[in-house]
Amino acid sequence: MLYRVVLVCFLGKFTADAYNESPCKDRVVDGRAGVCIDTSCCAHGDYKSGLCPTQPNHIKCCFNNDICAAEDCSGVEIVSRSQWGARNPTGSSTLSAPVNVVLIHHTAGSSCNSLSSCSATVKSIQNHHMNNKKWSDIGYNFLIGGDGRAYEGRGWTKVGAHSPNYNRRSIGISVTGNFEEDTPSSAVLQGIKNLIECGVSKGYITKSHTVHGHKDAKCTKCPGVHLYNTIQTWTNYGGKLPDYKC
Ligand SMILES: [Zn+2]
Repeated sequence: MLYRVVLVCFLGKFTADAYNESPCKDRVVDGRAGVCIDTSCCAHGDYKSGLCPTQPNHIKCCFNNDICAAEDCSGVEIVSRSQWGARNPTGSSTLSAPVNVVLIHHTAGSSCNSLSSCSATVKSIQNHHMNNKKWSDIGYNFLIGGDGRAYEGRGWTKVGAHSPNYNRRSIGISVTGNFEEDTPSSAVLQGIKNLIECGVSKGYITKSHTVHGHKDAKCTKCPGVHLYNTIQTWTNYGGKLPDYKC
């Protein structure tokens, strides 16, 4: 009886998770977190029986992506390249998904607060990266505007140019503004979190990913002390990266 009460509390705590998935009986198995979902939704049939005891038979513990939720990016408005007026890249290479690492940057420039002003900001960053730095495209995979929208940079499937040691194994998200001086708004922080959730649900980021500031990969002030302090409070914050270089 006590067990049942405890289990109900446990389920109650987690059923508010994204996509209303409930946790498996042993939340982490072999270092991987699983969730109880319909077996037909579990990518590559990567599920185990016996870990969702209170659920009907077709619900099992899945250790891969929920393909039924694959298009659920409802929490974030992604502004496509064509919407913000991107130039075509002069080259690209494919990022092998899913990645385990999300790297947060700031643009260290001015912020913006609307679709039009953020589009202009992102365009000027792309021009700077292509014209002055001679990169093939804007460096980041995504940018978060001060309006909380996510502006598509190189996107989920292309290698970025934002953190040399980690470009090939991370998604780089840069927030417009300078967070050595400013404090990130709740809209910006929610935008980052929802974009990462979206990447997880689409299978571009692993469920067990960790989030880091650029300064966890090399010695830099990026993403600014105020944004960095906030990231450090997140449950998926991963600390200094193993290939940190200074
Ligand atoms: Zn950076």
